[in-house]
Amino acid sequence: MITATKFSVHKTNKSRLAETNFDALEFGKTVSDHMLSADYRKGAWTTPQLIPYGPIVLSPTALSLHYGQTVFEGMKAFRTNDGAISIFRIEKHYQRLSKSLERMSMPALPFELFSEGLQQLIHLDEAWVPKKEGHSLYLRPFVFASNEERFGVHESDDYRFLIITGPVGPYYSKTLKLKVEDRFIRAAHGGTGFAKCGGNYGGAFYPTKLARQQGFDQVIWTDGSKDLNIEESGMMNILFVINNVLVTPPLSDTILDGITRDSYLTLAADLGYKTEERKIGVKDLALAFENKTIQEAFGSGTAAVAAPIGSITMLGKEYLLPPVPQNGFMIRAKSMLEAIRTGNAPDTHRWNTLITI
Ligand SMILES: *Cc1c(COP(=O)(O)O)cnc(C)c1O
Repeated sequence: MITATKFSVHKTNKSRLAETNFDALEFGKTVSDHMLSADYRKGAWTTPQLIPYGPIVLSPTALSLHYGQTVFEGMKAFRTNDGAISIFRIEKHYQRLSKSLERMSMPALPFELFSEGLQQLIHLDEAWVPKKEGHSLYLRPFVFASNEERFGVHESDDYRFLIITGPVGPYYSKTLKLKVEDRFIRAAHGGTGFAKCGGNYGGAFYPTKLARQQGFDQVIWTDGSKDLNIEESGMMNILFVINNVLVTPPLSDTILDGITRDSYLTLAADLGYKTEERKIGVKDLALAFENKTIQEAFGSGTAAVAAPIGSITMLGKEYLLPPVPQNGFMIRAKSMLEAIRTGNAPDTHRWNTLITI
């Protein structure tokens, strides 16, 4: 373990804690007092600093601003039933960040810097980890090309690693009204769809805006082939329960390897569901509606955990899902996940890292 002395710590003298209403948290609107910052210069990561959250100075030639070398993670820390704090699936998030960095030709981040950085930061902002059920501390580690003073087209020599955090409440939403997007795609084979890089989001905003103007909440992305195989739902993975089987598209270089998705696939066995990772074309899916074999559909991701889908428009027709079954997979798996994260169920899959500072 890196001891706190290896981090330089500069505490804020103006905590925003007292003015924060933990009963009315909106996702992404509240940030904790501190952030972690480390620079990559001349081929090495420098001493990480824990500093007050605030604006950063960036040179206008910073290559992230021009060429999009920027990747991120989204993860959560939970208050356990005995008051401790645990981080969910830190190794898997680290592995994914490493893949994203490699794909964007950015320097690797040592696991120790990632893991200790998260732990030291959360320890410092311990009071920001909510205590209420269903609440958590959202963690946003990210790396971007930073202060290089030349802007020719090339990969940067200078990078910055930042971690910011913020308390979040439970996600409740009406069921989503989605359309299968048949004009735009999010990712193509050989591209960056599997990487959590900024550009994937930038490119998705416009099609999403058009879908919202048509009255939908989000789009369902396909692979753009003639079968229109389903890939993801907005910036979430998509899962179905068809004939009591949990079905989701197989991972590929066009699908983000969601850690919530992976957790659901693992929990399915514990809950007695079979799983299938297989291609689902829109015709297949329409058939499942017509045969009434489709029981559930939901998006999965760290922020929402599970976002129930109410209708899917495809092939010129709106197909309605049945009401979310209270004893169905989504609700049971979501509460099982919550129980594991908070220590109310055994952590049989070893997903929790307890902060032991
Ligand atoms: C982050 C993300 C997800 C969800 O991944 P989780 O690890 O479950 O949060 C799904 N799809 C895309 C495109 C993403 O960027």
